[in-house]
Amino acid sequence: MTKPVFRFAPSPNGRLHLGHAYSALLNADFAHRFGGRLLLRIEDIDVTRCRPEFETAIYSDLAWLGIRWEEPVRRQSEHFSDYKAAFSRLKGRGVVYPCFCSRKAIADAVQNQEAESGRPWPRDPDGASLYPGTCKALSAEAAERRISRGEAHGWRIDMAAARRISPGPYAFRRFGRDNRGDTVKADPWRWGDAMIMRKDVPTSYHLSVVTDDALQGVTHVVRGRDLEAATDLHVLLQSLLGLDAPLYHHHELVLDPIGDKLSKSRGSEALADLRREGTTAAAIRQRLGFMHFGT
Ligand code: GLU
Repeated sequence: MTKPVFRFAPSPNGRLHLGHAYSALLNADFAHRFGGRLLLRIEDIDVTRCRPEFETAIYSDLAWLGIRWEEPVRRQSEHFSDYKAAFSRLKGRGVVYPCFCSRKAIADAVQNQEAESGRPWPRDPDGASLYPGTCKALSAEAAERRISRGEAHGWRIDMAAARRISPGPYAFRRFGRDNRGDTVKADPWRWGDAMIMRKDVPTSYHLSVVTDDALQGVTHVVRGRDLEAATDLHVLLQSLLGLDAPLYHHHELVLDPIGDKLSKSRGSEALADLRREGTTAAAIRQRLGFMHFGT
């Protein structure tokens, strides 16, 4: 039997905090318990926000916590050709269309819709307005003309087209600590025509994560509850791309003392700060419930 494959996949756009430590330790703990392998993937597609010093800090924080991962580490910024190949498959299936809209154009279109209908425009699970479909209405010739003029554009999934060729129903397999699975219903359509190939980088979080999980043979995805809704979209992409779907475990998030989600942008206390202040890795592991980790 092949070994289960886990991965921890941080983005080097800030310093790791206790929430990342929890996720990484839980991955390592599962891998240990299930006799599996642990991979580390650096999700650095966001070239403007990711910085090499954050990547270096990821390696040293994880090693300090006692986590071991397999080499080589996969850095997404070195694999844009893989995401392009996956994108071409989606294009070949006729489920993407180019989008030239700026954020402001989308916000204005949504505002108009709301004013006209007197009703709030629907939002995706992350709270962003669903794409109002402006560029979907363009003819193929008009879109082609704008592309050949060099106009900046991304590509969105055409949910109506995807639903026609791959109607579902969708679900993913969830696993727990006892490795017993159950099936969770997924509703990819609630994401609307999500961006699959961004304007600024030639991929998206969703496209690269499903591509990499498949290419790396990941069998078990362990990540925070904040990404659970995204799994609905991931299973649709896996189906459209003909990829094997891993099993999923979405863990609780580590909250700060006032009950908010920890976040890099809010300046939550970084592991490096705790370490500098004299906190030991054993104390962190204990605080997060991994007393026996590595023993
Ligand atoms: N790179 C994502 C993050 O740091 C995690 C992606 C995933 O685990 O699927 O939030």
